[in-house]
Amino acid sequence: MLKYPTLGPEFLEEISEMYLKPVVLFSGGLDSFLVGKLLSDTVPWLFIDYGQAYANVEDQVSNKLAQLHRRPYDKIVISKEPHKPDLAADDPNAFVPARNLMLASIAVAQGYETIYIGGVKDDMVCDNTPHAHAEMARVLSLFANKKINVIAPLSGTSKVEAIQQFAASEYHLKATTRAAYRDLKQTFSCFDPQGMNPCLKCKACVRWSVAMNAAGIKVPLPHRDALLDYVYRLHEYSRDRQWSLLKAMGRLYDIHEVDIDGVLTIEPETGSCKVLDWNHYYRKCKPKQDAIDCLHAWAGAGDIIILHTARPEINRDVTVKWLEGHNVDHHALLMEKLPVHHIYDDKALLSIP
Ligand SMILES: [Zn+2]
Repeated sequence: MLKYPTLGPEFLEEISEMYLKPVVLFSGGLDSFLVGKLLSDTVPWLFIDYGQAYANVEDQVSNKLAQLHRRPYDKIVISKEPHKPDLAADDPNAFVPARNLMLASIAVAQGYETIYIGGVKDDMVCDNTPHAHAEMARVLSLFANKKINVIAPLSGTSKVEAIQQFAASEYHLKATTRAAYRDLKQTFSCFDPQGMNPCLKCKACVRWSVAMNAAGIKVPLPHRDALLDYVYRLHEYSRDRQWSLLKAMGRLYDIHEVDIDGVLTIEPETGSCKVLDWNHYYRKCKPKQDAIDCLHAWAGAGDIIILHTARPEINRDVTVKWLEGHNVDHHALLMEKLPVHHIYDDKALLSIP
């Protein structure tokens, strides 16, 4: 797998010239910009207007970035009709089925044979995974009757790592942090732009802003509700995404991590009996009201509360019901904390104040 930090930009430049008729699928967003900058400056940046509601803004940003970075800019308009309402207008976050396959097909139909695509390790979209890229190359080669390559050079790197590596390489070249960050701040990803400004509510805005802030580049944070939608589902995300979300949110919010058993609960007496039915055991826990009141006060002050327990995922339902039954304020519930006996941490507190 191509990976920027281990292979270095010179190697990628070589690779980009080795493959025939290369192009970068370019949207003006972070991922495609970072891929575009990895490759030789003769590789064109291709913007495709396929009727996305925000095509106009993407085109303007992409064109400006291509000019600033002296890259050949190619633009194809395939639809002047905006997307059907069920795909775009009603829900700006709606998934566009087969979008990357469609974009790659259009590039191939225009004569390009090596398609560079911005996909990162922490992408969760089904058409932007290493498996999807391999399948796209296979299908496109079959239908083009020649070898087509689909390459995502950052697929082994998280979005935050890719930003940090780019910023570090720019810093080496230009020797100022401002210069290193300036280009990154000019990228733009928003499904519902307000004029030329990001809405700071849609998924694209959240991912852009979270990655930038987590990488140490201060840009406006998304609206609290948009961030909390992600925090509620924290347990569904990879460690990369959990880390970057909390790292970015830590700029504005106080975040508390709280254990459950023994901190929020008084555990039932079992005597010398071994616990066999853990659901029953957890149901029987009594609440520690002082600690629960403390969480309530934190939540009232706007703080973020992450519950982190060593209970296994299989006991999630009974845990959630217990927390709801005792009105325990929290924004996320992470389970399967390592089952160790002692935790030493410079931020550790022995009890809730
Ligand atoms: Zn947005």
